[in-house]
Amino acid sequence: MMADLYYPLDPALVTEWPGPRDGGSWWHYGTDFGVPVDTALRACFDGEIVFAGGDGAAGVMNGVRANGEGLTVDIRRDDGLIARYGHMNRIDVRVGQRVKAGGYIGLSGNTGYTLGPHCHWELRWDRAWSGGAWVDPRPLKPGRLRSPATSKKEDAVKAFHYEHREVRPIAPKQRLYLCDTRGKKRDLVAAAGPTVLSAHVYGEKFAPGDVIEIRYEVVRDGKSSPHYLDRVIADKYGLIQATRTFQRSVAADDVVNLSVYASQGNKGGLARITLLDSDAYTFAAA
Ligand SMILES: [Zn+2]
Repeated sequence: MMADLYYPLDPALVTEWPGPRDGGSWWHYGTDFGVPVDTALRACFDGEIVFAGGDGAAGVMNGVRANGEGLTVDIRRDDGLIARYGHMNRIDVRVGQRVKAGGYIGLSGNTGYTLGPHCHWELRWDRAWSGGAWVDPRPLKPGRLRSPATSKKEDAVKAFHYEHREVRPIAPKQRLYLCDTRGKKRDLVAAAGPTVLSAHVYGEKFAPGDVIEIRYEVVRDGKSSPHYLDRVIADKYGLIQATRTFQRSVAADDVVNLSVYASQGNKGGLARITLLDSDAYTFAAA
């Protein structure tokens, strides 16, 4: 049975589709997503982890020669389709483990042969089962990972996902929270244990060099403690694009809120900021 196929992360900003490189002297079989180091990666379908580790130690992975893909995870769907995730910074799954579509598998990185941080995502049929043919994902129209991943007890990882999109103006010295439609601060996660949260922040109409701070606060027993996460500088087009992933240990009733702060103002006046698709993943005890 053909299960659904999803992009391995969301938003899925493709920087290079499969195709010839270096004037056609070789073919790049992966789809590359230009994302910062430590962006959460998720299973693009239900399947079994059949490789998890460094390609240097393996040489050949599932019959396909390793090509400088650094820390790599291969997930095999039950019909034999394999999805490879290359250049990772951290792997949080083990060989033999079953994962659900949308389940967290690890963090993107810049390991192996790269020209910068990105996720290399490649689809092939298992060589032993189906000849190893390469698969172009485009005709398959991968879906976006919008819905909560299931957290069955056989999963080592429980995943929580909130689809939320806010586009609002931000003024100098103003703070914006990720809010629900009634303007209430929105809980990002409320589950006990070490938790990986990722925040995607997009801004436009800033002046080049403007600085936006990304912060989060943990509310426990009615008291909030703010934390500085990172700062992002608008590029020469006045755009801000950032994904930041952070890990915290949270208690069962903790509420984590995400906010952005126009710390040095925006010289261009009111700019617009988007807090998009904040994800939180809680690891079950090993
Ligand atoms: Zn690639």
